[in-house]
Amino acid sequence: MTDWLSLAQARRDELFAVLEQMVRIESPTSDKAGNDRASGFVTEKLAALGGSVIVDRQAEFGDHVIVSWPGEGAPGFVIGHIDTVWPVGTLARMGYTHNGGRIFGPGVLDMKGGIAATVTALGALKEAGLWPTRPLKILINADEERGSPSSRPLIESEVKGAAYAIVMEPGQGPKGALKTRRKGLGEFRVTVTGRAAHAGVSPEKGVSAIHELAHQILRIQSFAKSGDGISVNVGLVSGGSARNTVPAHAEVIVDMRAPDAARCKLLEAELRSLQPVLKGAKIAVEGSFHRPPMERTPAIAALIEQVQGLGRELGMELPEEPTGGGSDANLTAALGVPTVDGMGAIGENPHAEGENIVAEGLIWRTALLARTLHQL
Ligand SMILES: [Zn+2]
Repeated sequence: MTDWLSLAQARRDELFAVLEQMVRIESPTSDKAGNDRASGFVTEKLAALGGSVIVDRQAEFGDHVIVSWPGEGAPGFVIGHIDTVWPVGTLARMGYTHNGGRIFGPGVLDMKGGIAATVTALGALKEAGLWPTRPLKILINADEERGSPSSRPLIESEVKGAAYAIVMEPGQGPKGALKTRRKGLGEFRVTVTGRAAHAGVSPEKGVSAIHELAHQILRIQSFAKSGDGISVNVGLVSGGSARNTVPAHAEVIVDMRAPDAARCKLLEAELRSLQPVLKGAKIAVEGSFHRPPMERTPAIAALIEQVQGLGRELGMELPEEPTGGGSDANLTAALGVPTVDGMGAIGENPHAEGENIVAEGLIWRTALLARTLHQL
């Protein structure tokens, strides 16, 4: 019997070296060059394992990459994003450090840890002669933290017909739970147009877009009712041109989430039916639910059970939890491909100060991924 944990243990130096080098290349979604460098680094490692590389060139975002290996039957699909939410310069104050059994650094958890585990697991499979018989595709995208606007068509065309999709996002909570349900995610811009006027000379001629928007913000926030799984966040606000000018323009960016397709529709309809309170103000709504909800279908439940069984063989309990966060799992699951998400690193503070992972946990996850790819 293969000792999968020892197989991963034996490659711990490689695992952490790959992670460190990746983290040291800062790759916020907005920085194309950084993303291209980071994914180029990963792609090189995968190509060295015999994978054929296709680069999906992008103008605005970093390039997306597919690395594939031939085999028999429906392909297995693994997906990870190389972009992070951390601006360039974060490393200088929140550098890569490995101490006390934890590794800190921008993107270690979300989700360079998961990508390092993927590279290492494939290396272990290759060397041990345990490569899966199915064709295998690894997709690395560079715009996930923005909702995958440019990689979505690639993900959808590549995952079609796959036997399964594994998403290397971090596990949830201290136990690294698998994520089997994700809310649908919508991103909207609500723009208010008023009329500019001198604030002192002729305020009565103006219509304040900011005043109007204040009314609308309260309405939008009230769409979220506690206990129904809906969340609404007015996350960005801007407007006005000068202190002494009645503002003609103001806008907000709104994040909305709901657990099923019906409620996504309802929320969008509510937002689109906002009516102005002030005479002369106009409201425009743009955006959509760009990530459909991931619902826990029987096929997803069966896949999770199988992975949980493999985890138990390795001495790991893998709980499952729903989450409000969106990921590319929403896209693959919506196409009917059995999807397991949260197979990546275990740690704390994704998108937050002090982001870190449990070093030993990443070795377990590497073993689990190798075992899973071999078995499925
Ligand atoms: Zn992520």
